[in-house]
Amino acid sequence: NLVEAFDLAGRAGRPVLIPFAGGVGQTAVTCGDLRALAARFAGVLDELGLVPGDRVVVRVEKTVANLALYLATLQRGAVFVPLNTAYRPQEVEYFLRDTSARLVVCDPADAEVIRPVADETGARVLTLDAFGEGSLTRAAGNPQPAIVARDDDDIAAILYTSGTTGKPKGAMLSHGNLRSNAMALRDLWQVTGDDVMLHALPVFHAHGLFVGCNVMLLAGAQMLFLPKFDLSLVLDLLPRATVMMGIPTFYTRLLADPRLDREKVRGMRLFTCGSAPLLAETHREWSARTGTAILERYGMTETGMNTSNPYEGERRPGSVGPALPGVSVRVTRPGSAEVLPPGEIGMIEVKGPNVFRGYWGLPEKTAAEFHPGGWFITGDLGFIQEDGYVQIVGRGKDLVITGGFNVYPKEVETEIDALEGVAESAVIGLPHADFGEAVTAVVVAQPGAAISEAAIQAALRERLAAFKLPKKVIFLPELPRNTMGKVQKAQLREIYRGLYS
Ligand code: ATP
Ligand code: MG
Repeated sequence: NLVEAFDLAGRAGRPVLIPFAGGVGQTAVTCGDLRALAARFAGVLDELGLVPGDRVVVRVEKTVANLALYLATLQRGAVFVPLNTAYRPQEVEYFLRDTSARLVVCDPADAEVIRPVADETGARVLTLDAFGEGSLTRAAGNPQPAIVARDDDDIAAILYTSGTTGKPKGAMLSHGNLRSNAMALRDLWQVTGDDVMLHALPVFHAHGLFVGCNVMLLAGAQMLFLPKFDLSLVLDLLPRATVMMGIPTFYTRLLADPRLDREKVRGMRLFTCGSAPLLAETHREWSARTGTAILERYGMTETGMNTSNPYEGERRPGSVGPALPGVSVRVTRPGSAEVLPPGEIGMIEVKGPNVFRGYWGLPEKTAAEFHPGGWFITGDLGFIQEDGYVQIVGRGKDLVITGGFNVYPKEVETEIDALEGVAESAVIGLPHADFGEAVTAVVVAQPGAAISEAAIQAALRERLAAFKLPKKVIFLPELPRNTMGKVQKAQLREIYRGLYS
């Protein structure tokens, strides 16, 4: 059981969380406090008759109680199913049905909407609010600190993917998946009990929960636990932390603030980044401004982390680094299992103890995403450099095929982003009668910059082959992103699908 590895009993007196509410730090929660709360919740699960393997759907704000519920669920051998709080309460129905959960824990404000569905699907409803209070906290369970034995192959959590390329899929992650990945990251990033992590990520996603909380709990480190990313609060807390894990938007927002300087990050030993591509330019800007190089890594819900730039050694801008120890990465010709040599772009595949046990309820989909030998087909395109560093060029589903030619959006985006007056861009393929798909650029101009479609097309003409040139350029004030900072290209394709008809 993964929870054993956290050794909350052995560290009972040590602080583990400093929760922030309304921008103010609360009393430190010790490992002993967290263990006691988890034991109380585990007692409630017991009294409800939950048995190992039962699913617990959780859609609540980020609080200490939320983390304790995660631990309680795993401790009882049940399966934790956290949901993005951006999902409307109405959307919870799909997940309750999909998982046939025995229990759903939601915000009291949403209980009205969720209860009728839960009644139908046979789930009990308990609540937790933004302060960690609710019917779950009030339920009088006999504390149950026992940790049920689980095998490495037993499922600990079902985590839904972000839904960037389609309907979210429930990835079944085992105790062994989560433990091996947390151990590999702890060792690689040299996380110890002396670390203090600035935790501003959501805990319904692999990044905040498994990379953030699991690694810190395993190392016996502390977390400054912010309900969400609050720029001013993060700037205030940087001097108290040693580690921050972020998504690219954390870094661009910090860079846009004049208060960020070397002094603020003097005590920081590690900034990591992932969940979405970090522009090489942001990486360089961060190094110049703070004197520390962001460590970019690459992972996904189905696999946890696959690659990471090194802690010691070159943190290469634009690269996600070599495979993690124990994990293998290869690149294949898309649509086949033929392995490509270094430098050639193809489908990234991974294999290792981190790779999930399959998509919940979708055995055929699962089978279709693996090649023989346990290689998981990630859906991401990229190449491996001679020295093992992996570079991602984008998602297979975002590849543009125009007049029979492949266009990698990232290549065109990189050229557009380098133009004077451009803040960022997204290149997509849109249906086109002659070309099948037409390369189309969506561009965000820098504030006050006057930049035209014609100017962008003219500048690119000198740098890119004709078939890669955007047939049209659309200007937007900002790119649509989800909570993890992922650009929603499917949404852009949907909005502009009639552009060439
Ligand atoms: P869905 O699978 O439902 O379409 P999703 O793939 O966005 O959604 P996640 O599992 O949250 O769901 O995200 C994993 C994906 O995020 C990876 O497959 C990759 O495309 C992207 N990603 C993660 N880290 C990086 C990174 N450092 N650089 C570029 N892309 C990254
Ligand atoms: Mg995915």
